Amino acid sequence: MDQTELLAADDAGLARAAALLAAGGLVAFPTETVYGLGGDARSDTAVARIFEAKGRPRFNPLIVHLPDLAAAERIAVFDHRARTVAAAFWPGPLTLVLPLRPGAGVSPLVTAGLDTVALRVPAHPVARALLTAFGGPVAAPSANPSGKVSPTRAAHVMAGLTGRIAAVVDGGACAVGVESTILGLDGAEPRMLRPGGVPAEALEALLGQPLAIGGSAEKPSAPGQLASHYAPGAAVRLEARAAETGEILVGFGPVLGDLTLSSEGNLVEAAANLFHILREADLLAGPEGRIAFAPVPETGLGRAINDRLRRAAAPR
Ligand code: AMP
Ligand code: MG
Repeated sequence: MDQTELLAADDAGLARAAALLAAGGLVAFPTETVYGLGGDARSDTAVARIFEAKGRPRFNPLIVHLPDLAAAERIAVFDHRARTVAAAFWPGPLTLVLPLRPGAGVSPLVTAGLDTVALRVPAHPVARALLTAFGGPVAAPSANPSGKVSPTRAAHVMAGLTGRIAAVVDGGACAVGVESTILGLDGAEPRMLRPGGVPAEALEALLGQPLAIGGSAEKPSAPGQLASHYAPGAAVRLEARAAETGEILVGFGPVLGDLTLSSEGNLVEAAANLFHILREADLLAGPEGRIAFAPVPETGLGRAINDRLRRAAAPR
């Protein structure tokens, strides 16, 4: 990556930012909560780069940012509750977890392979202008290195991510500074998945019922603790250098397989392919089958890839 461009929040800066996003680049931008690190949510590679730039050790699902409700309805299935809440709080610091619309075109890396998706329409004028200029869904976690404090100024983003992302749009200081409230409306019970800018009481008043806090083992509430990541039906073996009888081998680098995460040993490519390959290998292996994965180095994105593979291999 070359130098990170610091862009003004004017027409020229936003046009440049939109062009960088369209080319698969990462652009940090202000929202009313914190600065987000945006990438095209439809691009496996752009989303893999988000995890790489942040140094995230794990593929937790990302929030998809949209300019308005109509764009959001193209990505997820809204029921009456979801429309009511969206009408009241969008644009604003509220994220809704909803059933993913089939064929929405969102990278499975955004949803961690789940059939639900987290959506938000931010209120910040610069975020809205960028989303409109880009014209597609933007996956964006907070624009800080993993484990560091969320950024509320362009200079914070630069301090943490310069040289690792294409650009930062400077929109001044963020007003809220806390992250969005995450409301789960993907099941019968509305669930509070993360407290944030919109208070739970306001949502309860609107929905006319208390929010479930916590969740079942299948749908936990704590951010980043999601156990319901896509799990293959087939048994998974790791650190394989050759297929045993009846196994589908997924290669990496020099280990050639029936499929490969990246024949060049490129970790961004491997991350971009990961959820597609998990599904494809699962289909090839069948429910009683076995999948073997070649070793992936425990560096950079390799840590997140291995975290995901270890979960797939864990006894169920
Ligand atoms: P961040 O982008 O860092 O603010 O974090 C996004 C948060 O949204 C994480 O806590 C995720 O666990 C949560 N999230 C995103 N998508 C989903 C989903 N489909 N189901 C449940 N939680 C989600
Ligand atoms: Mg964060």
